[in-house]
Amino acid sequence: MVDGAKRRAALAKVKTAVMKAAMSGLYHTGAHRLLAPYTQGVGVIFTLHHVRPEPDEPKAFAPNRILEVTPEFLDAVLDQVQEAGLDVVSLDEAVLRLQEGDDRRFACFTFDDGYRDNLKYAYPMFKRRSMPLTLYVPTDYPDGNGELWWLALEEIVARAHEIELCRNGELWRLPAGTVPEKTRAFAEIYWWLRLIDEATQREVVRVLADRYEVDMAADCSRLVMDWDEIRTMAADPLVTVGAHTKGHFAVSKLYVSRACEEMGGSADRIERELGVRPIHFSYPYGDPGSAGRRDFALARQVGFQTAVTTRKGMLFPAHRRHLMALPRVSLNGEYQSLTYTALCLSGAPFALWNRFQQVNAA
Ligand SMILES: [Zn+2]
Repeated sequence: MVDGAKRRAALAKVKTAVMKAAMSGLYHTGAHRLLAPYTQGVGVIFTLHHVRPEPDEPKAFAPNRILEVTPEFLDAVLDQVQEAGLDVVSLDEAVLRLQEGDDRRFACFTFDDGYRDNLKYAYPMFKRRSMPLTLYVPTDYPDGNGELWWLALEEIVARAHEIELCRNGELWRLPAGTVPEKTRAFAEIYWWLRLIDEATQREVVRVLADRYEVDMAADCSRLVMDWDEIRTMAADPLVTVGAHTKGHFAVSKLYVSRACEEMGGSADRIERELGVRPIHFSYPYGDPGSAGRRDFALARQVGFQTAVTTRKGMLFPAHRRHLMALPRVSLNGEYQSLTYTALCLSGAPFALWNRFQQVNAA
């Protein structure tokens, strides 16, 4: 019997394959260029996570590789975006342009989770070019008690030969001896964890991390900036700091009061540390299962002026009425080519994905 987690893992794989085929079709027929005037919109918000050089010895099992790009690739994308005639602007400027109906095309660059490599590799690049960028910080992370559970899960699966878990009161055993087995085990556990409630999700990973001696607090301190480092960046007018909840939770899975506390509490914490209250927010995970209509309304109530999702898409003038559900385009580590980003800038792949609906905020 195929269970929910298996189905989600398989679906993610199929979606990637369909997207790859569609992208390749668009590019080789040149259709993206014909579609661009209708599909490119007025702007784009790019999503990034880690920016760091490739390791000397790339790992065969690296399921989180999608979350990192190299500094060279990012540098080339910044050139490409400029050559394509887009202005790199701050989120404040993006909102202004949307509200005023300004038709000059723009791009925003946003970095989720506050990784230290953003300070080391990405920030100097933007500084040199005088280009703005936004960081979205889950405030437990610089406090040193964040749980980057997807990274912990990768380490656990890398170390294990077989994984035993308690799932819905039953023993779940997954082989993890070979790279294909590890890849499968990671995908199945990952998608199961994304489905279940947040408290159980964290508890499951804590138990496994304990068993395989993975220190999540140490990973957090090693990978994520502390408040002093965030303050260094925030002191630069080019840098906007936005909120990303406290503990990096999928807000749609939380009760209203808890969701508000996660959103508003992270804004309070940033205000206390930086002296400025953030008005921009990023929903952790950001997919429709992690942030929906209720959460868009909550983000507005909490006082944010914009909130970004990871729903794929370009920005159109109509988004000025949907500032709590802005789409983004991920610079994905698996697609580090300027061909891919040229396709993205045409907006054509997302128009196909969204069946030519410009706004997807349901
Ligand atoms: Zn995040």
